[in-house]
Amino acid sequence: MSTIQVAGVEVSTAHYIGGRRVESSETLELFSPIDQRPLGRIAEASPEHVEAAMQAALAAYPAWSALTAAERKPYLDRFAAEIGKRAEAFCQLESNDAGVLLSRMRHGVVPRAMLNISWFAARALELQDHPIDTEQAHHIVRHDPAGVCVIITPWNAPLMLSTWKLGPALAAGNTCILKPPEWAPLTCSLLADAAHAAGLPPGVFNVVQGSGAQAGAKLVADPRIARVSFTGSVPTAKRIAQAAGANLVPCSLELGGKSPFIVLDDADLDAAASTGALMYRNAGQVCLAGTRFLVHARVADDFIAAMRGYVEKLHIGDPREEATEVGPIIHPRQVERVQAFVERAVAGGAKLLWGGARHPFGAQYFQPTMLTNLKQDDEIVQNEVFGPVLTLQTFASDDEAVALANGTDYGLGGVCYGETVHATALAQRVRTGFIWVNSFGIRDLAAPFGGIKRSGIGREGGDWSFEFFCDIKDVVVPKKPFRASFSHR
Ligand code: NAD
Repeated sequence: MSTIQVAGVEVSTAHYIGGRRVESSETLELFSPIDQRPLGRIAEASPEHVEAAMQAALAAYPAWSALTAAERKPYLDRFAAEIGKRAEAFCQLESNDAGVLLSRMRHGVVPRAMLNISWFAARALELQDHPIDTEQAHHIVRHDPAGVCVIITPWNAPLMLSTWKLGPALAAGNTCILKPPEWAPLTCSLLADAAHAAGLPPGVFNVVQGSGAQAGAKLVADPRIARVSFTGSVPTAKRIAQAAGANLVPCSLELGGKSPFIVLDDADLDAAASTGALMYRNAGQVCLAGTRFLVHARVADDFIAAMRGYVEKLHIGDPREEATEVGPIIHPRQVERVQAFVERAVAGGAKLLWGGARHPFGAQYFQPTMLTNLKQDDEIVQNEVFGPVLTLQTFASDDEAVALANGTDYGLGGVCYGETVHATALAQRVRTGFIWVNSFGIRDLAAPFGGIKRSGIGREGGDWSFEFFCDIKDVVVPKKPFRASFSHR
């Protein structure tokens, strides 16, 4: 079996199909964003590999879907426990191949990945046969498994997002094929080891490595699949929706954002500024970050000064070091993209409040950057950069703040700092999938997550995940003897 060693962790570079590792003759090279060192080569799926994964998932479906949620739960609890046993290996792999902070992996991502599996396994127990009684009939509303689910995830949070989808999909009785991001696929490969050790029946969970254009595109166009759950960019989502739409396969699309970070004139400016600096976490490669600062003109100078203080203290460097707060950008292509965004903005009249150039720590590091002197239709205000680049505009009234907040094609998240009643009232007027009042990043598993407008279609999280990953069926049993009649409705 092909494996590579990354930071002392041995990980398979092969696919995981039908409970076995499967090799590819074609491979893709992997580099660490930390220092561009080659990490090894990961398998690239051929059409035959995709077909094998489909056959395995289809073959495993009848037995897995026939289990009750209570019977599936022990498998998934063991899966979560096996993730926990490999906690440090997951941390090292994702820090090295995706550049995610090691501290964040240890304290946030890995515990959450375990919970993503075990929480949904427990929650599925409550989804059995929801009854509705009317005068006419007894309805048994069932959440039935849907079939084979294709799960496609991006490089900025592969472990978190893959488990966030796998948890409910498997708990609901589906079988799954995961296509990891080709720039950061290693934790998804280790997930297969955890599933294998947990004794998940062969074919229930499969991993097909490779590029989006080859492996991903073939998976989502297959008419035998029941669902596609995708997190990634808008252009890819359009391609996936078209391919899946040709077969009327439902898609859940969690996409990019250009979320507002609103600071009202009655906000605690220090609290807002310290949260504001968090938007540079993961080098700004966070879909739900508030990247457009909208600050009341009366407090703008004070807010900028407070946030500058926090940004100057940010520790930029190697994500494997405990003290690091901002790590590298995933890929040289992405660094160039970020830089070009900033250069075009400045050429168009934007002013730099701080940052604006590559960071001396290394080739894939960029300074935390803030641009101002912007118009609402400027490219940098309208488009997702997905790097450590924020914008700041001022407003003079709540109505203007709402108009600016709603003035892009995106609608994923938002942040609103202000006196609680005032901020809560304003937050309700922002057109977005979710918005945090005087806080950031609270993600309860029971709550819905997803975007509106270009930020996505559908909701995952809590019971919304099951609404998506299940076929909802109403079994209608009349209360009185039923006699067919053409006038009956
Ligand atoms: P991407 O769209 O380029 O790739 C995402 C995944 O799709 C990868 O696994 C890729 O291989 C696959 N893919 C590419 N083309 C495909 C095709 N034709 N068919 C099937 N699969 C295909 O996105 P990315 O650059 O990896 O990630 C960054 C984007 O993800 C940003 O826009 C970010 O906002 C978004 N994102 C959104 C959320 C959310 O929850 N809303 C979370 C994280 C990231």
